[in-house]
Amino acid sequence: MDTDVERKHCSFCGVRGKRGMLFAGGHGAMICESCVAHYADVFSSSAKTAKASVPPWESMSDAEILSNLPLIARTAEQVDDFLVEWVELARSRQLSWAAIGTAMGVSRQAAWERFARRVEQLRERSTTA
Ligand SMILES: [Zn+2]
Repeated sequence: MDTDVERKHCSFCGVRGKRGMLFAGGHGAMICESCVAHYADVFSSSAKTAKASVPPWESMSDAEILSNLPLIARTAEQVDDFLVEWVELARSRQLSWAAIGTAMGVSRQAAWERFARRVEQLRERSTTA
């Protein structure tokens, strides 16, 4: 698993990780310590939670909407990379492509076509790094 914070982005604010920063993650989405503190404050009272529950895009300009597209794409890429790491983990435990396909609701062949090459590339990178 790639746990290098310098290759991660916060899925909430988009900040790129730097050495010494704290990031928490779950299923490929990452959150920086500033966003953790922000959301801890938002969730600290029902009044703050209610105030923050208005969808932010409703007050955004077109430029702000557009500026969010790369962040969302980067988060999707980060989550997709994490999925490949987990498929590689499953394969390293000798789990079959059929089992992986079943877990993902697709055929063995579809799972293999989607992940086999990327799992191999990931293994090549980790043995040469
Ligand atoms: Zn953040």
